[in-house]
Amino acid sequence: MQRIEKAPAKINLSLDALYLHEDGEPEWQMVMTSIDLADYVQITLRNDPAIKVRTSSGFLPEDQRNLAYKAAHLLQHKYQIKTGALIEIEKHIPVAAGLGGGSSDAAAVLRILNELWHLGLTRAELAHLGLQIDSDVPYCVYGETALVTGKGDQIRPLGGLPNFWLVVVKPDISVSTPRIVRALDCQQIKQHPQTNALIDAIRTDDLTAMIQNMANVLTPITTARFPVIDQLCDRLLQFGADGAQMSGSGPTVFGICRQYSRAQRIYNSMSGFCSEVYLVQPLKP
Ligand code: ATP
Repeated sequence: MQRIEKAPAKINLSLDALYLHEDGEPEWQMVMTSIDLADYVQITLRNDPAIKVRTSSGFLPEDQRNLAYKAAHLLQHKYQIKTGALIEIEKHIPVAAGLGGGSSDAAAVLRILNELWHLGLTRAELAHLGLQIDSDVPYCVYGETALVTGKGDQIRPLGGLPNFWLVVVKPDISVSTPRIVRALDCQQIKQHPQTNALIDAIRTDDLTAMIQNMANVLTPITTARFPVIDQLCDRLLQFGADGAQMSGSGPTVFGICRQYSRAQRIYNSMSGFCSEVYLVQPLKP
């Protein structure tokens, strides 16, 4: 038996950390949405119990370090499944970019094996399990615009977004999320996103207010190490984006444009000095 699914990238319209739990994990408050830049995850069931991972990327681990492997192993072990799986991942999402690519692959594996192994788990149950893999997996199980709180495990879908285009720019650097999060001091945060106002703006289809209330509290930490991130946001705004922000722990930034024609011009301009640039839209619910 075989099945293939899209595993979309996510961006953070907002990212806030309210306080640190005793284990050092932040209490997150984030608005995330998925975009039409996606990996493809295909799973073929095996008769033996082995879990095998193959990726189209030349440098990603294909053993138990791969988040897709972890997801399959978690379900197989918990539900005492006797069959194994061949997981083939066609990578399109840049790695270690703040776009949640590994988490989205893992979430796709959870969704597919829930079906192929007839586990009958709800989305909430899959999301709860996904937290054991990475804090972004619960969101990716849902994959729709949502408020994400707790350690990443509380997901509240928010419905549709105002219409806009995104110019997504990934500079040629990789960022370690754990390293950035370890440097976070919740007392020192200068600019929090206005999360409630952001949610109201989404509900009332008000793109201007949505952009005004976005922010990412990890930006100062990542840009202190990689100033190019600030420069890219400035460029996006200079070229005419209505708003610009870093996603996750970076280094990817995105510009928001009301009009397609302007997004296309900005895409062309940014492509002049950055090799990984994407012109995409948020996924429709
Ligand atoms: P997050 O913001 O969720 O931490 P990210 O977008 O910054 O994610 P990923 O692309 O998910 O980063 O990769 C983070 C790490 O996970 C990398 O070091 C990578 O080697 C590892 N990894 C394991 N499995 C995968 C996978 N299937 N796809 C991408 N990276 C993976």
